[in-house]
Amino acid sequence: MADQCIFCGIIAREVPGDIVYEDEHVVAFRDINPQAPVHLLIVPRRHIPALADASADDTELLGRILQAANALADKFGLKQSGYRVVTNCGKDSGQVVYHLHFHLLGGKPLGPFA
Ligand code: 5GP
Ligand code: ZN
Repeated sequence: MADQCIFCGIIAREVPGDIVYEDEHVVAFRDINPQAPVHLLIVPRRHIPALADASADDTELLGRILQAANALADKFGLKQSGYRVVTNCGKDSGQVVYHLHFHLLGGKPLGPFA
């Protein structure tokens, strides 16, 4: 756990968060400022600042995160309508929270990326 990391705080339940899924490796909770009817953040339990910091040893973990995204999309009724999974990495992406997270967005037409 990294000091001062808001997502580590949510994972540790030291900071309030609407957790919708958790297992040994992965936690998911609602985004505090949703950009779509469904907007979840899917994160590794272990503090990794950004996708650029993931190593070959994290290959399975990254797969687990995407499989969790699929399962959550199904659980939240997005399987038929479709959804977007996106991660921001670094300055130009606009990454704000430096604990790796994947946004799962859906429930309306999402429009273009950029
Ligand atoms: P980024 O721009 O880093 O990819 O996205 C960070 C996301 O985290 C934003 O969508 C923002 O609304 C969300 N966020 C920031 N602080 C908190 C918080 O304390 N709790 C929750 N649930 N989401 C947060
Ligand atoms: Zn963290």
